[in-house]
Amino acid sequence: MTTATSPHAFWLAGRKATGDTTLDVTSPWDGRHVGTVSIPTSAQVEEAVAAAAAVAGEFSATPAHVRAAALDHLTRRLVERTDEIAELISAENGKPMKWARGEVGRCISVFRWAAEEARRFNGGEAQRLDSDAGGTGRLAFTRRFPYGPVLGIAPFNFPLNLCAHKVAPALAVGTPIILKPAPATPLSGLILGELLAETDLPAGSWSVLPVPNEQMPGLVQDERLPIISFTGSAPVGWSILDSAPRKRVTLELGGNGAAVVLADYASEADLDWAAQRIATFSNYQAGQSCISVQRVVADASVYDRLVPKVVAAVEALTTGDPSDEATDVGPLVSEDAARRVESWIGEAVSRGAKVLTGGKRDGASVEPTVLENVPADTQIGCEEVFGPVMSFVKVNGEQEAFETVNDSRYGLQAGLFTHDVQAAFRAHRALEVGGVVVGDVPSYRADQMPYGGVKDSGVGREGVRFAMEDYTYERVMVLTGL
Ligand code: NAD
Repeated sequence: MTTATSPHAFWLAGRKATGDTTLDVTSPWDGRHVGTVSIPTSAQVEEAVAAAAAVAGEFSATPAHVRAAALDHLTRRLVERTDEIAELISAENGKPMKWARGEVGRCISVFRWAAEEARRFNGGEAQRLDSDAGGTGRLAFTRRFPYGPVLGIAPFNFPLNLCAHKVAPALAVGTPIILKPAPATPLSGLILGELLAETDLPAGSWSVLPVPNEQMPGLVQDERLPIISFTGSAPVGWSILDSAPRKRVTLELGGNGAAVVLADYASEADLDWAAQRIATFSNYQAGQSCISVQRVVADASVYDRLVPKVVAAVEALTTGDPSDEATDVGPLVSEDAARRVESWIGEAVSRGAKVLTGGKRDGASVEPTVLENVPADTQIGCEEVFGPVMSFVKVNGEQEAFETVNDSRYGLQAGLFTHDVQAAFRAHRALEVGGVVVGDVPSYRADQMPYGGVKDSGVGREGVRFAMEDYTYERVMVLTGL
């Protein structure tokens, strides 16, 4: 932390504020200064929490059309400011422009869905109780109400859209939110604050606070914030659940996503498509996506034809400056992250893995890398790499393929290349993941669909409507004497 003269303000209960200290944000590509962000003091964090708690009742009673109009406003403004916001994401995160623009597009979709869901959510359901004698003359009526204010904690890899996945459902159900962006990428989250400030949502209903990690345990345990929606790494996520076991906690954590190619997916066109998708989505955002392709589980009958196609597709990717529109693969978020990936590749190679392409590091960049013969007990073999690295695994038949996918402590999404609809249904039943994508890589996500993991990949679901359900509970009212 440093001190500076004109840092970006944060958003405290809907208004701009600055604290006593600042944080510099630098580009992982060339180390240039992207911005300086003011950090809230603990007294300011307390003020935001108190404001959220105070406004919760009033906000929950705000008419749906008012909240939907605010969400529509964000949708419109994100469309208008797409290029500028994409440049900011690219600068602070190192994400190539084409992917940064795609992220803004997804964020627009999140707010659009949230506006629609806000309008139709909570219609209420009546249930007759007179089917039992004791219920004669009674009717039950149910509506969903928020547990209370949300603490939304976001990671660096989708610095805008994963903030949106916390904020949009909260506003849609009418519950206040304190959003905490990642320290490496706070500027994208603060932009959402700028757009929220243009709405007439009640003061206190939202704050965007780049709270230092050291202050987070206090916030996590604060009883005035009964909902925690966390996206980030597994160790931090599970420690949050351990320290706040009575809260409603959603954890969207890591993964080591597998793309399975079954024996029937064998024509040249099939393998070209699979290779293209695998190469692209092992390396998009330099592999820093929780559902990027880390393992390619290929049937032995197609393995020898698939591998060279994937290697060729990987070598055709354009690496380099993320601000260049032609770049496919930019740097990782920091040189430390790249050094870790480099050391994991080194460990795998020292244990017998073969590098088919890539493997080298330069500053914060790691070459798109394809490995085979990776021992299952190496870091790359069993952990989340979070870098542009994939490993091929050769299997014999569907059952071995599914067992290989499941032989992981993670379970986020899996991709399945097959034309066999029965095999797709068997995979849907057998794979221990939150989502099976048939005909594509595990990296496909539409922002309205239920999204989340099992095992170490987390608990709860995002996807606008599903997060709205997670933030609320059913409260029944029984009417008597009817
Ligand atoms: P991280 O766990 O280091 O940080 C995530 C957030 O938690 C940051 O805002 C950080 O400041 C905050 N944090 C750190 N310590 C905390 C504490 N003690 N209490 C509360 N908050 C704390 O993760 P990251 O490096 O920013 O993101 C990468 C990870 O996120 C990867 O593991 C990736 O798979 C995961 N991820 C998961 C999904 C998903 O939807 N499942 C999506 C994107 C990223």
